[in-house]
Amino acid sequence: MVDLVTQYEKIKPEVDAAIGEVVAKAQFINGPEVHAFQQELEKYLEVAHVIPCANGTDALQIAMMGLGLQPGDEVITPSFTYIATTEVIALLGLTPVFVEVDPATFCIDPQAIKAAITPKTKAIVPVHLYGQAANMEAILHIANEFGLFVIEDNAQAIGCDYTFSDGRTAKTGTLGHAGCTSFFPSKNLGCFGDGGALMTNDDALAAKLRRIANHGQSKRYYHDEVGCNSRLDAIQAAVLRIKLKELPRYIQSRQALAEAYDQAFRHLPGVQVPQRATYSNHVFHQYTLQVRPEIRDALHRFLEEKAIPSMIYYPVPAHRQKMFEAFHASDLNLPITDFLTERVISLPMHTEMQADQLAYICTSVTSFLEA
Ligand SMILES: *Cc1c(COP(=O)(O)O)cnc(C)c1O
Repeated sequence: MVDLVTQYEKIKPEVDAAIGEVVAKAQFINGPEVHAFQQELEKYLEVAHVIPCANGTDALQIAMMGLGLQPGDEVITPSFTYIATTEVIALLGLTPVFVEVDPATFCIDPQAIKAAITPKTKAIVPVHLYGQAANMEAILHIANEFGLFVIEDNAQAIGCDYTFSDGRTAKTGTLGHAGCTSFFPSKNLGCFGDGGALMTNDDALAAKLRRIANHGQSKRYYHDEVGCNSRLDAIQAAVLRIKLKELPRYIQSRQALAEAYDQAFRHLPGVQVPQRATYSNHVFHQYTLQVRPEIRDALHRFLEEKAIPSMIYYPVPAHRQKMFEAFHASDLNLPITDFLTERVISLPMHTEMQADQLAYICTSVTSFLEA
């Protein structure tokens, strides 16, 4: 699905030198690399504060802790997402309220959010799934109207640009009260292990998030509130500083690959290529086709036989996971989520696709779908 080896080879001398320097100085935790990365990411995202942490799941948890969500509070989230989004809600004793997505963008449907609000609702967690933004203008409007927090799950969309109806643009992850991202190796900005970060423009919240990520510590060995231990390693920060410089190019490569896939598949019968939102560009963490449910798994197997990776993101939506059985009514029905779950299939998407590989993938997919 990704080619991280070739990507590394292209930046190897710089990356190896940077890692070597961290090792030589033995500054593995915090220190100048982490601080420099934080500042460079703040500049890139045009956000006041970036708080590095250990992974994207932690970022979500720290955001919910920092915003003071309490057991019993309801948090509205899509069911059509990676499990981490919804899992941390339950972990903190909050109640996940699963709602539908917009079938055109795969992202949470603002109308469904509005319909799910109760007096217990405290927050909304939109997920910018596959690399395209949720309808943030509508979501922020609803949040404002009902006094709710917005925590963006930006793990799949770092670098994505959102355009408001007045023409103002901003990066996803910086639009809500807090944004969360992941630097898992296969993410659009990935490190060589686990990593994550929070983003916010709120100074007081930033200070609190920083404390929570560091054992609730305000001053060394003085702990004001219950926190956790969630740090970005200096080696990861050193790698991320180099890859952040490449990110605009990486995004362009992904977009070019998506265009090529579109050209190949857009006219095939019974296939829906990824639709583009008017308010967001697409940074293509995933390139996800929709095909008829009767042939989806057969296509997956056919590609496997041809040695072409493909993935179903995700085969079971959150509201159908055993983990959440006790968290919602047994008759909770999300037909759009089920519809998409049966139809989606993601193709290899990365920064290093070769022309011959691309041609082979396109010919193989086309031959199956035309047969
Ligand atoms: C990857 C991902 C996460 C979790 O990030 P980790 O760094 O793996 O903890 C959360 N939400 C979404 C949508 C993701 O894709």
